[in-house]
Amino acid sequence: MKIFGIFGDPIVHSLSPAMQNAAFRALGLDACYLPFRITKDRLGDAILGASAMGFGGLNLTIPLKEKALEIVLPDDLAAAIGAVNTVSFGQEIMGHNTDGSGAIMALEEKGIKIKGSRILLIGAGGAARAIAYTLAKEGAEISIANRSPGKALELASSIQAEGYGLEDLERLVPQADVIINATSVGMKEGDPRLFDGNLLHTGQMVFDIVYNRETEMLKDAAKAGAVAIDGVMMLVYQGAKALEIWTGLKPPIDVMEKAVREGLKARER
Ligand code: NAP
Repeated sequence: MKIFGIFGDPIVHSLSPAMQNAAFRALGLDACYLPFRITKDRLGDAILGASAMGFGGLNLTIPLKEKALEIVLPDDLAAAIGAVNTVSFGQEIMGHNTDGSGAIMALEEKGIKIKGSRILLIGAGGAARAIAYTLAKEGAEISIANRSPGKALELASSIQAEGYGLEDLERLVPQADVIINATSVGMKEGDPRLFDGNLLHTGQMVFDIVYNRETEMLKDAAKAGAVAIDGVMMLVYQGAKALEIWTGLKPPIDVMEKAVREGLKARER
């Protein structure tokens, strides 16, 4: 049996084991995917140990994605983003980043053409960086706004985009075709809004990568007649891309989505 896993700290709430094990079953693979709580200071030992034990592949999550660059050989995208969420074991221990392509696939399945779209990305943390670099490669017209404007400017300048603070959202939101929330705002009930929902209008697409609840931003989008997309499919597609990297097989998207949605429902109970 091939072992796969996810390393993080904390890791107990990860939906990836349910999602990947469901995919392995559907594909008829003799494989299992397990969560491991790994602290930053033991990441090197843990990755080398997994390699020595013949693991099929790994995912990395908070707080390990950046630290992994010191241990694995990143591909060009992971190196540019500065974070690794997928590790493959071949001739080399390679680091990949599938978060950005997961986000883009979640948008594309709703019919959005990335090339030429005016995309407003809110956030400049790890997930936002992954999305920004992947969107830039696809030819989107990107604006980035962040609570710490310096981080938005830095990220924007590395992909020839514009960087702003959150006070600029009042002007930026109405002009955008697609608005992406890549901050952690909205994860908790009672989180404040990043902008007034009345700034949204029909014809826009609002993608909130938070996946654990329907955020106020998504409620505002639906109310304004905009298309509202939650973070579930990004989670599914980033996992699907990882599975494809490890196995070369076509991932069973429906099965993976069902496992994630069931996992989220079970959390509510
Ligand atoms: P991160 O690196 O810690 O970045 C957090 C971002 O949120 C930063 O831009 C930060 O701004 C901003 N932020 C935090 N609190 C804020 C507040 N009160 N007001 C305004 N902005 C605030 O985190 P991350 O890894 O990028 O994750 C961000 C979110 O994406 C999380 O909710 C995570 O669950 C979600 N995510 C979803 C998926 C998926 O597959 N759907 C994948 C990855 C992440 P500053 O720079 O000013 O601190």
